[in-house]
Amino acid sequence: MDKHDGFMKALKCRECGREYPLEATHVCEFDFGPLEVAYDYPRIKASLTRESILSRPQNMWRYRELLPTAKPPTVGAQVGFTPLVKADRLAKRLGIRELWVKNDTVNYPTLSFKDRVVSVALSRAVELGFTTVACASTGNLANSVAANAAAAGLKSYVFIPADLEQGKIVNSLVYGANVIAIKGHYDEVNRLCAEIAGKFGWAFVNVNMRPYYAEGSKSMGFEIMEQLGWQIPQHSVVCMASGSLLTKIHKSYQEFTKLGLVAETKYKVHGAQATGCSPISTAQKAGLDYFKPVKPDTIAKSLAIGTPADGFYALKVMKETGGSSEDVTDDEIREGIKLLAETEGIFAETAGGVTVGVAKKLIASGRIPANDSAVLCITGNGLKTLDAVSNYVGRPREIRPSLREFESLLAAETKCAVNA
Ligand SMILES: *Cc1c(COP(=O)(O)O)cnc(C)c1O
Ligand SMILES: [Zn+2]
Repeated sequence: MDKHDGFMKALKCRECGREYPLEATHVCEFDFGPLEVAYDYPRIKASLTRESILSRPQNMWRYRELLPTAKPPTVGAQVGFTPLVKADRLAKRLGIRELWVKNDTVNYPTLSFKDRVVSVALSRAVELGFTTVACASTGNLANSVAANAAAAGLKSYVFIPADLEQGKIVNSLVYGANVIAIKGHYDEVNRLCAEIAGKFGWAFVNVNMRPYYAEGSKSMGFEIMEQLGWQIPQHSVVCMASGSLLTKIHKSYQEFTKLGLVAETKYKVHGAQATGCSPISTAQKAGLDYFKPVKPDTIAKSLAIGTPADGFYALKVMKETGGSSEDVTDDEIREGIKLLAETEGIFAETAGGVTVGVAKKLIASGRIPANDSAVLCITGNGLKTLDAVSNYVGRPREIRPSLREFESLLAAETKCAVNA
């Protein structure tokens, strides 16, 4: 191993275990298995302790030995350490003893968990000498690549399906990124990007940089354990697009256990999808190890991946941990968004509505027992998906600037309330 690689040892095929150099590459040449970063855990154990973590700034890089860069990050050094909120009012409504919300709606700088993966991917891209970065995105990734590339002085190309929410499109354009809208769904965007990545020699964060990129998601799990007082939650509910975040939350729990940072305990990881794009949850419910690709049709556009790259591994994690899966309709997604907002004051995007709606179903059916404790991973901000709820939240009552008018409005409402 080369000291210049930090705590990384190699890229390793998840299927056959063959090792590759730590470059911008993502598939095994022998069996097309996905490559994953392998670490030097004994060396990490000597360096990463509760004490060393607690002595560092409150951002995701406080766990830097377990993140795949050779040197300190050059992009996104402030990302992470979002609040873990004890959600007592939501717990009551969902009928569970103890509930926590990991609130990545306020992640820095672009208000979604994607800032975690982008910080890692772009820092590693700079280390490998790239000056142009790119991604295939369902929206949040494009926002984060555009913003973080701007801040780091990198050139960026972001590829999105043309029918994305206005909020997500503006949030990429404003940073001066090259935004390319593809007339097609995400899986077609992704296929095109695989061709482009091979041809132009850019750092494609979720194509040739995917092994590094995906590791950034672990930081959400590391933070949850630290914020719970160095414990693994009994239940974690995670929404799934490609399924990568869910697998990395599991990996984070395993790594902290292996390093002795938390006690070894049993835990379940549950996956959440929208009914209009539910290849993984449908397979899980049917007890299958493989999913069938679908054509997405849901308001949860950030999760609309019909051929999820990590679907197979997400199913495996749920099976191994005894977790399960559910999916929710567009109406249930909107209900979930409103429930979280009205009980906890957190305005999540559609993906958050999926997580809340699915948690409700898992608790009601006993797959998450009412006496247990659960963490909901809320991954994106509602201000970016206003279109999804704007016709479902009522309208302001309009009056002239007159005390009399306000008093008669209140009186009319009181009368209504009494009569009702
Ligand atoms: C991308 C995304 C996810 C899930 O991503 P995976 O591909 O499953 O890792 C979840 N929530 C939001 C808001 C996202 O943008
Ligand atoms: Zn292989």
